[in-house]
Amino acid sequence: MSNFPFTTTLASLPTTIPFVGPDTHERLSGIKFRARIGANENGFGPSPKAQQAMIDSITDVWKYGDSDNFSLRTALARHHDIPIENIVVGEGIDGLLGLVCRMFVSPGRNVVTTNGAYPTFNFQVTGNGGKLHFVDMKNDHEDLDSIVTKAAQTDAVLAYISNPNNPMGTWHEGDVLNRITSNIPQNTMMVLDEAYIEFAPQNTILPIDVTNRQLMRFRTFSKAYAMAGARIGYCIAHADLICEMEKLRNHFGVNRPAQFGALAALEDQEYLQGIVSAVNQGKSELGRIAAKHGLSAIKSATNFLSIDCGRDDKFARMIVQELGKVGIFIRMGWAPPQSRCIRVSVGTSQEHQWFDEALSNVLSNLQ
Ligand SMILES: *Cc1c(COP(=O)(O)O)cnc(C)c1O
Repeated sequence: MSNFPFTTTLASLPTTIPFVGPDTHERLSGIKFRARIGANENGFGPSPKAQQAMIDSITDVWKYGDSDNFSLRTALARHHDIPIENIVVGEGIDGLLGLVCRMFVSPGRNVVTTNGAYPTFNFQVTGNGGKLHFVDMKNDHEDLDSIVTKAAQTDAVLAYISNPNNPMGTWHEGDVLNRITSNIPQNTMMVLDEAYIEFAPQNTILPIDVTNRQLMRFRTFSKAYAMAGARIGYCIAHADLICEMEKLRNHFGVNRPAQFGALAALEDQEYLQGIVSAVNQGKSELGRIAAKHGLSAIKSATNFLSIDCGRDDKFARMIVQELGKVGIFIRMGWAPPQSRCIRVSVGTSQEHQWFDEALSNVLSNLQ
């Protein structure tokens, strides 16, 4: 490989991917998942109006999408009661996190995140040559004060926080976050990943202040709006930051069906509310299943439940693997002590029932 003129950063990177996708797992094992409840996809599916909008847009798919995402940004601006200048639309939060890392991270720069938090962010930091500094969770919650302290100690350019948090589903109230954003070191940008915010209690949502120059918020249509495969999300930030993003972003990266689908999904808030209550019911159901097997679920403000298996990561991994063998796709925490937990996304009652039966078999075999 040494004769390829790669960048120094790329040449130094190991071959890793943050997530092996469910389709890859199926291909590798030859087993089709009957319960796909491991990637926090929302199996209830998008609003019928969003589906229709995407179908209707297909004939026009020969056209590039609108590079300004103008209609969607206008609707988002209205929805959040902020100016359109404070919104950029991109290829999901993952795409936007990559963009933010390109904006701020270069070899030798420092970034703070939580040990065992969202790995795709880390992947983007490392891909730009940045150095990651980790803070441990505290009682399965992101430890915001330690994140701020670590950012100051390392002179970090970015500090990543997710609220609610993946993989634990735990969350902080807006008031707490507010205090943190005002303490963040002067040279640090706070990256607030709100992938699950629509599922969270109202007081979790930090009021939107687009005059804050140190906060970038990331939202998606993948989770509550059930459009993961459409790849569309957005960032809310100070207008000057959005202007800088314009210099780097992939202007035609968002596909046309996704633009129309997201617009229709956003306009169907009634459907979204229905999803949120269905997900809450689903979480209760999964919680009862966990309890039945003597396991305790961690209270979650997302569309998944982390279930404490009461032992170490080896035990949790065994459960994940054994369930996979019988077509039940779930995941687990990424770093100790959170990796003692399995992570199960809300699915249909049928999927929950299969999970219940398979878990029962696995646990009795592993005793
Ligand atoms: C699912 C998830 C994302 C990915 O969002 P996309 O918009 O699909 O890229 C980002 N952050 C967290 C914490 C997630 O769980």
